Amino acid sequence: MNTESMYSQLGISHEVYQFGETILGGLQEQFARIDAAAEYNQGKVIAAMQKNRVNATHFAATTGYGYDDEGRDNLERVYADCFHTEAALVRPQITCGTHALTVALSANLLPGDELLSPVGRPYDTLEEVIGIRQSPCSLKEYGVSYREVELLGDGSFDYEGIRKAIGPKTKVVTIQRSKGYATRPSFSVEQIGQLIAFCKECKPDVICMVDNCYGEFVEEREPSDVGADMIVGSLIKNPGGGLAPIGGYICGTKACVSRCAFRLSAPGLGQEVGANLGLMPAFYQGLFLSPTVVAGALKGAVFAAGIYEKLGFRVVPGSQETRHDIIQAVELGSKEGMLAFCKGIQMAAPVDSYVTPEPWAMPGYDAEVIMAAGAFVQGSSIELSADGPIREPYAVYFQGGLTWYHAKLGILMSLQKMADNRLVSLS
Ligand SMILES: *Cc1c(COP(=O)(O)O)cnc(C)c1O
Repeated sequence: MNTESMYSQLGISHEVYQFGETILGGLQEQFARIDAAAEYNQGKVIAAMQKNRVNATHFAATTGYGYDDEGRDNLERVYADCFHTEAALVRPQITCGTHALTVALSANLLPGDELLSPVGRPYDTLEEVIGIRQSPCSLKEYGVSYREVELLGDGSFDYEGIRKAIGPKTKVVTIQRSKGYATRPSFSVEQIGQLIAFCKECKPDVICMVDNCYGEFVEEREPSDVGADMIVGSLIKNPGGGLAPIGGYICGTKACVSRCAFRLSAPGLGQEVGANLGLMPAFYQGLFLSPTVVAGALKGAVFAAGIYEKLGFRVVPGSQETRHDIIQAVELGSKEGMLAFCKGIQMAAPVDSYVTPEPWAMPGYDAEVIMAAGAFVQGSSIELSADGPIREPYAVYFQGGLTWYHAKLGILMSLQKMADNRLVSLS
């Protein structure tokens, strides 16, 4: 059997396949680094599960109020140990990443308090949460003010600006690890640690929250290892390992996390309610698989960077750069480029491969967004997906891939569509 003939059957031309193989030849050191981090993180997850004596009773479903849900409570201990925090809230009732961040912020900010983003504008959906764009029930409506400090031109932190922005009202600092829909670099855990140390030097009791979406298990350390009071993310991204069908997590200090639990359910109830609805096997097993799933996604990101930088497009990060999240931005420079790229990703999917993605207005975003995803879990972006707002610089954000081989096929297919539409030339 010949692998190239299988790719041919899937619609990849000889030219595209060979172009990919040549690029892969130059990525082996990157792949080795990715595998090393996955091996370390696999150990970290297993150690947390062993310490908490995970057993079959933890996989039982609960319904109704969910009192004494030992599977849920133990999963939260596993997360807390894995991320080295005092406490964790890991729930299917947290509907998505934006919801997890909303819970973390609104639980820890009271009227008159101020939220500071020292890393520039946060992720699009947070604009309505904070009230940067007007929305019912925003933090702004509840009397929480907001300030941001732009990054410097070279992407570094504006320490002088941050010092000036931290005042008596500053209660929470929000730090987004991943670039999101921006073409700035993502931050390393090391950089985040330096920023947190600086903020705490300016104001020792300030709460530092990190939006950890897409960052989990990319490095050996997490922001909670370098001083974050809360790290927050979505289970249909990295830590759900592709198996969690819904959910979010908040790991952090007891003080912060217990407030989050009261905000999520109700004052007085907190962490004691919230049935697991039979999702524990997926949550435990997804966390178990997450380090290797993340490694596959990272290899896909590096491969995409290698291909498109060779063809002269701006890619963030570059193929040889150290990774801090699973996102790969490729600036295709035109709407046509975005459509062709996304079409290729869609055609490579195991689910919905026959549909054509179209740009669409999305709740929470201010430009039309194109999304390619053929996922087992709808909207899951730890599964192979590409998306981006149709606006300058016409960048697609490529992420995920439950296996490296699927990610590879998706990128080859994107290249095939670009070549078919004469948007690139491979010779
Ligand atoms: C995905 C993401 C969010 C929001 O998560 P949703 O699950 O889409 O609501 C927030 N911040 C960052 C950096 C993200 O990548």
